[in-house]
Amino acid sequence: MSAVPDIAACPADLARWDRRHVLHPWADLATLGEADPFLVTGAQGCRVFDSRGREYLDAIGGMWCMTLGHGRRELIEAMQEQASRMSYYSPFASLANAPACTLARELAQLAPGDLQRVHFTTGGSTAVESAIRIAHYYFRRIGQKARRHVLSRVDAYHGSTYLAASASGKRRDRTCFDYEHSFVHLLSSPNPYRRPAGRSIRGFCDALVQELEDRILALGPEQVACFLAEPILASGGVIVPPEGYVCRTREICAKYGVLYVCDEVVTGFGRLGHFFASAPHFDIIPDMLVCAKGLTSGYQPLGAVLVSDRLVDAISGRNAAPNSTFTNGFTYSGHPVACAVAVRNIQIMRAERICEHVRAVGPYFMRRLRELRRFAIVGEVRGDHLMACIELTADDTAPDSTGPRDCDIAVARRVDRYCETLGLLVRPYESMCILSPPLIIGHAEIDRICAILARAIELTQRDLALEGKLRGCDSSG
Ligand code: PLP
Repeated sequence: MSAVPDIAACPADLARWDRRHVLHPWADLATLGEADPFLVTGAQGCRVFDSRGREYLDAIGGMWCMTLGHGRRELIEAMQEQASRMSYYSPFASLANAPACTLARELAQLAPGDLQRVHFTTGGSTAVESAIRIAHYYFRRIGQKARRHVLSRVDAYHGSTYLAASASGKRRDRTCFDYEHSFVHLLSSPNPYRRPAGRSIRGFCDALVQELEDRILALGPEQVACFLAEPILASGGVIVPPEGYVCRTREICAKYGVLYVCDEVVTGFGRLGHFFASAPHFDIIPDMLVCAKGLTSGYQPLGAVLVSDRLVDAISGRNAAPNSTFTNGFTYSGHPVACAVAVRNIQIMRAERICEHVRAVGPYFMRRLRELRRFAIVGEVRGDHLMACIELTADDTAPDSTGPRDCDIAVARRVDRYCETLGLLVRPYESMCILSPPLIIGHAEIDRICAILARAIELTQRDLALEGKLRGCDSSG
């Protein structure tokens, strides 16, 4: 029998094992196992290092999640301390652990309204999945069992478990997998950039709100359980809905007794300058709120659904069902090491006034990024505080309301590749470069991100001009 290999084995071996044995999330199956992986071997602050010894500025914060940056000593110590005291015990039924109880209380204190009950999960998808199941449980228990339908939107991303994937609306993510169609419905994307030609933003917003109401009425309000919504659609392209949209959709849901589930997996934990953005930034109090990612600063997998006391009271105590067991949860719900690091994360965020810092640097980040609009191939720069997106376009025709064209996507790919060569990691998605740097980012790093982006866009534009592909654009930049 061969010895267990060292995880610090040589990069060539690791790359070979990856190509042969790992099936990555969102892997390209057509080229499975062909190319060497991008092997990340180290990370510190806002920087990551690869196996070739190259250094990159991490403008995606891992995957929106490395909010306090890489290699924070206090977070590492919190994990070590908890792992040596008690690494794991079951969270089921009445079994509790100190970090989970403490974190639940912290989250309840940070939460808006009566979102006082916390159901821990293993990440964002399982939190979304749990929120939908809780909505179903609630309505069945209060005698409205026809309320099963779930409303979501094109361009939303809520995860990759079965229901969460079905409630996600990123067009190119729909593949040979199976999706639930009988009770999950997608409404239009609230993307002002791709609104129908000739429609004002206000008219677009009115139409979106009307569509939600019409869909509820068409299904029958007594059949609709919940509306699941990211206040800013993150991985669908940092889509900032029109002014007033979030509040108005929340009101429509309240009008018809439809539960509003706010997915703050990305917008929560500081990215918009608040622990939870729902109330202070969007002026809503949802019935359930989902969080993950920045909850632990990405140091451990953890998610949570915060549930309104109103809902919990209606299904528990004297209102509980005859078989009153709440049969939802996971082996690693409320994992003590994950909860310990989340508690420490919140302490550091408070002590270092991270939300205040984001509120200060966020507008600077957006202002510097908007300067990139001077380039002909930049169709739009959009975002809010530390979540942003640069939409690339191959020519100056109006944006296509059905989505980006292949030629736009090809332009974005070139920009992404140049960024990587120049030492910047951005998140490529369709015709976009998505940015979500660690929240600790400072002015100098923001300037560096913008300088590299400008250079990458300039080089791409130069290539397109040389190849005669810069149609209808002025290439002067
Ligand atoms: N919800 C949103 C808004 C997300 O962006 C994501 C992941 O990117 C999820 C849910 C799913 O989270 P996870 O990947 O932790 O399951």
